[in-house]
Amino acid sequence: MKIIVPVKRVIDYNVKPRVKSDGTGVDLANVKMSMNPFDEIAVEEAIRLKEKGVATEIVAVSVGPQKAQETLRTALAMGADRAILVMTDDEVEPLAVAKILKAIADEEAPGLVILGKQAIDDDSNQTGQMLAALMGRPQGTFASAVAVDGSTVTVTREVDGGLETVKLALPAIVTTDLRLNEPRYASLPNIMKAKSKPMATKSPADYGVDTTPRLKTLKVTEPPVRSAGIKIADVDALVAKLKEMGVAQ
Ligand code: AMP
Repeated sequence: MKIIVPVKRVIDYNVKPRVKSDGTGVDLANVKMSMNPFDEIAVEEAIRLKEKGVATEIVAVSVGPQKAQETLRTALAMGADRAILVMTDDEVEPLAVAKILKAIADEEAPGLVILGKQAIDDDSNQTGQMLAALMGRPQGTFASAVAVDGSTVTVTREVDGGLETVKLALPAIVTTDLRLNEPRYASLPNIMKAKSKPMATKSPADYGVDTTPRLKTLKVTEPPVRSAGIKIADVDALVAKLKEMGVAQ
């Protein structure tokens, strides 16, 4: 069984985003970029399925600029077998990404597509669901456990207030939640090996997808600055203060 893992190059999760002074977006100049953390979990899960003998090949796919090659190399160094870069300098919205992934899935016929539940830059949480709809295949989102058994996959989902377990017929779409696994670091020999693994470069047009945005960003602003707190000596003083502020009676 083949597994496709879409990986997005995003601003590193340790970096505090700065908003551009003209309010048109987040400033990405000279900012550290990395693989979306949920996608690292997706790559790890695919590798574990390969190690269990369930998967035979892992194909990492990224839609983005030339530099997304680095993200794909990271996936290859972790253990993916080959990569497809769908190169574009445009901002690509989830629907367009899902359409490209659908076209790739039509060509590659994977048993599973494992995506992150969301990209931490746009926080859309849409691509996996849209892909499942476009492919007309079942989806198990927010996975905290994945077990493939013959022609089905059992996915434990993190839902409000507990866990839900669903069984899906393959091919299926899974999106990863934080607790699914802890992604491995690529070893130096594997980083070297990854350099010679195959990477195809395509364009959205190769898949017949128009990536023209459907949304217009009106304005991006910094969150309001938090006003300074005050120290309170004891509980009585706290209650008095809350009364003064009209929060308590
Ligand atoms: P989103 O719907 O944007 O929150 O993204 C959810 C997931 O879709 C991500 O975790 C990735 O697995 C995948 N994805 C989104 N955008 C891209 C992209 N440009 N290239 C590859 N995968 C993507």
